[in-house]
Amino acid sequence: MSETRTTTLLVIGGGPGGYVAAIRAGQLGVPTIVVEGRQPGGTCLNIGCIPSKALIHAAQEYERAREYAGASPLGISVQAPVIDIARTVAWKDGIVSRLTGGVEALLKKNGVQLVRGWARVLDGKTVEVDTGQGAQRIQCEHLLLAAGSEPMPLPSMPFGGKVISSTEALSPTAIPGRLVVVGGGYIGLELGTVYRKLGAEVTVVEAQDRILPTYDAELTKPVAAALARMGVQLCLGRKVLGMNAAGDAVRVQDASGAETALPADQVLLAIGRRPRTQGWGLEALQLDRAGNALRIDDQCRTSMRNVWAIGDIAGEPMLAHRAMAQGEMVAELVAGQRRRFAPAAIPAVCFTDPEIVTAGLAPSQAQAAGLDCLAAAFPFAANGRAMTLDATDGFVRVVARRDNHLIVGWQAVGRGVSELAAAFSQSLEMGARLEDVAGTIHAHPTLGEAVQEAALRALGHALHI
Ligand code: FAD
Ligand code: NAD
Repeated sequence: MSETRTTTLLVIGGGPGGYVAAIRAGQLGVPTIVVEGRQPGGTCLNIGCIPSKALIHAAQEYERAREYAGASPLGISVQAPVIDIARTVAWKDGIVSRLTGGVEALLKKNGVQLVRGWARVLDGKTVEVDTGQGAQRIQCEHLLLAAGSEPMPLPSMPFGGKVISSTEALSPTAIPGRLVVVGGGYIGLELGTVYRKLGAEVTVVEAQDRILPTYDAELTKPVAAALARMGVQLCLGRKVLGMNAAGDAVRVQDASGAETALPADQVLLAIGRRPRTQGWGLEALQLDRAGNALRIDDQCRTSMRNVWAIGDIAGEPMLAHRAMAQGEMVAELVAGQRRRFAPAAIPAVCFTDPEIVTAGLAPSQAQAAGLDCLAAAFPFAANGRAMTLDATDGFVRVVARRDNHLIVGWQAVGRGVSELAAAFSQSLEMGARLEDVAGTIHAHPTLGEAVQEAALRALGHALHI
């Protein structure tokens, strides 16, 4: 055993939660060590947000080229395109390395020490790290748990062989002929769409009676319609029983008990992720739980003094930007600042084709919260920019209080709407009213004009519909 190191803040996990906390702590002069078992950047940069968005983009470009090889309404024609999947994956890996290298450089620039290895918690102030060259003990005043999450297994269908998680799906060596996706949520639909566009026959099996059950049904309809146009089969309201005896089909059961076998060369299991709370000594701290996750308060404190938790290990919503915002806050708290985690909204984007973006309350959520609200939508079919992009599916919707017009939620579905997340979140965080957005000059021609028009429509005087 080498010497024991001491620090003020010890962060376990170098994902978006942990690395942002460490950078901010470094900026504030708090002595900080981050322990990371893999590459810095966590799930998000290495095997999550970034690689999936790279593949989504590549698949979209490929699909577009294939459309042009048929008959393009734009007057473009090309020879039948081919895709070299190894080069696509190498391009994606290049982006990942640039970003993970960037995180390492930022940690260094801010005086944060990165210790590579797997941490084991000994007590609330002491951690032992298996660095591969012996164990190292680190003692701290503040322990920040940012160990993230891992794919949820299905007892009847363990990972291995044909059954892969998003991690393997993000580094394909070949595109399977027939892919069965279990789970019609974020990962299932984002990556299911990628594989379909890259040529696989894709079937999505979802336990609920519709895809993306956490989003409101109006938003998911254009996505379901686009999946149908692409030829993705949806098996809704089905229970997965496991692989068949030959190992070449997935057995599913409908509500009546009838069983079907879905032929599969590969199975992507994407039924959610679980907080990584086991196998590294955390159990000994006996921290309070909220289901599988660590229970935290509005300052990300766990039930043990000076032990904090952020990001996926602290449960839903498991989103990178939430983890980052929590990490920044904890660093500032450790540095002695007064902070609370009380965002007006945590936006969410599903990068399907078309994309979905939400921030704040949907009409049904506003109603459930006892708010008397009005809601208005503006369709992209009436937006000039959407027409020039040949992408008129979808709409922007605003939800606002009827009495004072305070905006409480935004939703949109359509091509490229992920970029509206900034406008949505800013308006909610700044307490904008319908009149504020309606009275703001929006550049023409942009998709953002649909945001202004939705507000105008809620006020009863939309201009372009
Ligand atoms: P993680 O990013 O999981 O990082 C935790 C880190 O801790 C890991 O690097 C791990 O190696 C390390 N670690 C764990 N245990 C130990 C230990 N004992 N010792 C040392 N190191 C340890 N979110 C979005 O907001 N937008 C998206 O588009 C998006 N796309 C996604 C796509 C996919 C395919 C997946 C899987 C996830 C996606 N997510 C997305 C979710 C996002 O990746 C997570 O919410 C985010 O990474 C959580 O950050 P975190 O810091 O809490 O944990
Ligand atoms: P998810 O929760 O988004 O979707 C899982 C889906 O699987 C749900 O629709 C659920 O009803 C279904 N399901 C559960 N058990 C099932 C079963 N036995 N058979 C069939 N269907 C079943 O989870 P995910 O897609 O695995 O993604 C995990 C998390 O990663 C997400 O919750 C999200 O927080 C994060 N993520 C975010 C993004 C993004 O922000 N764009 C992208 C990917 C992942």
